[in-house]
Amino acid sequence: MQIHRINAWSDNYIFLLHTGTVAAVVDPTEAQPVLDQLENLGAELIAIFNTHHHGDHVGGNRQLLDRFPQATVYASEADQGRIPGQQVFLKGGDTVEFCDRTAQIFFVPGHTKGHIAYYFPPATPAEPGELFCGDTLFAGGCGRLFEGTPAQMVESLSQLRQLPDNTRIWCAHEYTLSNLKFAVTVDRQNPDLQRRYTQVQAARQRQEATVPSLLGTEKQTNPFLRWDQPALQAITNIQDPARVFGRIRGMKDMF
Ligand code: ZN
Ligand code: FE
Repeated sequence: MQIHRINAWSDNYIFLLHTGTVAAVVDPTEAQPVLDQLENLGAELIAIFNTHHHGDHVGGNRQLLDRFPQATVYASEADQGRIPGQQVFLKGGDTVEFCDRTAQIFFVPGHTKGHIAYYFPPATPAEPGELFCGDTLFAGGCGRLFEGTPAQMVESLSQLRQLPDNTRIWCAHEYTLSNLKFAVTVDRQNPDLQRRYTQVQAARQRQEATVPSLLGTEKQTNPFLRWDQPALQAITNIQDPARVFGRIRGMKDMF
């Protein structure tokens, strides 16, 4: 399975999963760049995998279905009625197939109340796993809490944090630089974070994408996975994970 990253709108990423003559798309912000890429690849769209109902993640569903009426639209059962063309209603623990790969579904509410993530375990031990996590976990950050509580988001991120370090994080936005700009203000003595911030600044200056990242890197440098680290507990003067997380999330909202 090859994964193509497609730019959309100002800072969205759409992901196209491709094997031979078939493809699936994750969170099509808009249809046209997906149709163009399908044409380049000579592939037919057989599935749309949505992570949540926001317009920048489902905006292309209708037009893609017009062109590929046989494609199946997968999304969360908790998003019923909010996903254009939805046919399959997923919950945590379900699996979905794409060609010879099977994705596990994680129910990860917080950004929205129905948010799900798709995880493809490694095809062989030498390869990484692939996590499509929408607006839940970002490179260096996490999604805003529009429909959920800090406790829910900590529970959601805890599930994702348990995946292997060698998991590629295909998040839906290029927010890494601004996330790390904030991160260094709350996790000040973290050399891994300093190094990453420098690397990402250079990468963005060259207009390179910073997605996907690796989960191992996120665990070391993303303050929104580090609610149990002394540095984050110290800066918030709190120990309880959900409250540490909630305070840092609040600081980021104001940053
Ligand atoms: Zn969103
Ligand atoms: Fe989004």
